[in-house]
Amino acid sequence: MDWFKEVLCRLTRMGMEITHLGSGSAGNSTLLRSEETCVLIDCGFSLKQMEARLGLAGVEPSSIDAILVTHHHSDHSKTALRASKNWDSVLHSNLETATRMGWEPMAECRTFESLERIVVSEEISLMPIPVPHDDADNVAVIASNGDGRRAAIVTDLGELTVDLMRHLSGCSHISIEANYDHSRLMSGPYPESLKRRISGRGGHLSNTQTGDALAEIVSNRLESLVLCHLSERNNAPHLAESEVLMAMEDKFVGSIGISRQSGPEFSHWLGQSEPERIIG
Ligand SMILES: [Zn+2]
Ligand SMILES: [Zn+2]
Repeated sequence: MDWFKEVLCRLTRMGMEITHLGSGSAGNSTLLRSEETCVLIDCGFSLKQMEARLGLAGVEPSSIDAILVTHHHSDHSKTALRASKNWDSVLHSNLETATRMGWEPMAECRTFESLERIVVSEEISLMPIPVPHDDADNVAVIASNGDGRRAAIVTDLGELTVDLMRHLSGCSHISIEANYDHSRLMSGPYPESLKRRISGRGGHLSNTQTGDALAEIVSNRLESLVLCHLSERNNAPHLAESEVLMAMEDKFVGSIGISRQSGPEFSHWLGQSEPERIIG
């Protein structure tokens, strides 16, 4: 029965779990975990918070193999360098982000080019896709597991590019920002200039933009969806969820979740539509 064990082992290794440690303007980090590999997309909480949240997800900080920082804004990058040194994890960013953070390429971080596949291990590889966001060289991340299933982590962008839409359409899991409800933002207390910046090409995605984009690419291949980076002032979980679900009509048959600032609450597995609750 050795062949059976081998197949079972291989299947387990192909799995990938996606856990949002928390998301929002006060900090972002997403854990991707397979049998033998752990990767963080962004590291935007204090080190103490990062370690506490990893603990709730049942992960030793020292088992983080790699940290990819999407862009230099502190809610994504805050403790990435210190974490990579303390936990002996490889830090990845593009050159612009490294420069803006003052990280030494080669010595402190490995720099990547957009659309270059970063092979962390046999089990997890990452593809950075450039997205428009303020003055930052931000990237969305498409993570692939051993059998070619893909998960997308997409935050901090003013609009979805054709290239990104193409990559999203093949994904089994999508975590994507639904930052603001348009009428809440427009009728809220923010100064006009800030409202324009948030809703502009380099700002964030609204519930409507996210819903419209997902409606375009949704297929029965999409098993799970997480809405993230919700603005506490200009959005609410029920608004984001209902608008996105309404836009996709009955084309989406998977599970939907919201990543909150306080996280982690749920883990999603590629190939499993029901999320697994984290026992805190
Ligand atoms: Zn940002
Ligand atoms: Zn952000």
